[in-house]
Amino acid sequence: MNDAPKNVAEPDEATRTWWEATREHRLVVQVCGDCGHAQHPPRTLCTGCGRTDTLGHHDSDGTGVVDACTVVMRAPDADHEAPYVVARVRLPEGVILLSNIVTDDPHAVRIGDPVTVSWQPLDDGRALPVFRPVFTPQEN
Ligand code: ZN
Repeated sequence: MNDAPKNVAEPDEATRTWWEATREHRLVVQVCGDCGHAQHPPRTLCTGCGRTDTLGHHDSDGTGVVDACTVVMRAPDADHEAPYVVARVRLPEGVILLSNIVTDDPHAVRIGDPVTVSWQPLDDGRALPVFRPVFTPQEN
């Protein structure tokens, strides 16, 4: 597949539904219809109960919280423009996505900051979920 974007995984049996949703800029989370366990990335079996026939996807609201983050100061290649923020983002469902925080002020991103999803288009029509800070009024 020559059209596949660099450094982005091809959809497989487990991740196809998730990737297809990104074409519509929908962030979905795989949830087990039996035990209610949510997991990411999508798998072919539930890591909560082991079932393979009860997995579905539900639409996340696109909000999250920074669980951990770091600022990359030196880009690994010409496709990246440093500095940029790599972060673990925890969704309300409890799952964690490894993503980027898109911001003009990378050093201001803190653990616990609320973020909201934004979409980075890929050449093949899919999109990568990245996150932007949700600004809240300052106390002072
Ligand atoms: Zn389950």
